This record gives sequence, C-alpha cells and structure tokens, in this order.
Amino acid sequence: MSNIELKPCPFCGGEARMMKMGYPHWVYCRNCGARVHGGKSGEEGEKASAEAWNRRASDDVADEEAASAYLMSITSSFASIADSLERFVDQSNPHRRPPGSSLSGY
Ligand SMILES: [Zn+2]
Repeated sequence: MSNIELKPCPFCGGEARMMKMGYPHWVYCRNCGARVHGGKSGEEGEKASAEAWNRRASDDVADEEAASAYLMSITSSFASIADSLERFVDQSNPHRRPPGSSLSGY
C-alpha cells in the first residue's frame, strides 16, 4: 500500500511527499512545506495521512459539491415558486385560454 496517490498541494500546487518515518506519518509539500498527518504510523499511517492530505487538497471540490447542493435547493424552491405562480395565474385569470385554442376568440 505504498502507492497511495497524493494530490498536489492545496496551497501552492506543489508536489506532495509522504514522510514514512517516525510517528505519526506525514504528508508534506516539497515546495511550501505545508503538512498534514493522520495521527497514525505504519501502513495505516500512510493511508490516514494520505487521506487527510487529499481531503485538504480537495476542499475546493467539497465546496463545489456544497454549491451544487445549494443550487439544487434553489432550483427546487424556484420550481415550487413557478408552480404556485402558475396556479395563481390560473386562479386570477378565469378567461385563460385552454391550451391549444386559437387566438381568434379574443
Ligand atoms: Zn505547497
């Protein structure tokens, strides 16, 4: 399990390296020195630190997910607004033409 993929540094985009000695294992950026650890050592430590690093590196992805979830909630509330608006128009306009009728009646 030494082939864990590390994402680029979330701060500078630099290359990430794993520090597999001591406790706990680290993942650090070779460029700016940012580092993170998973509080473990050994094989588990590699995994934990890589996960911690990648989680940090994908913060923007998490934001994107939150943004799209937010957008979904807006879209669905907009749909319900449009729905009630349509009902409102239906009620307030008794002379509304049924769908498919021609303009000649007006
Ligand atoms: Zn960096």
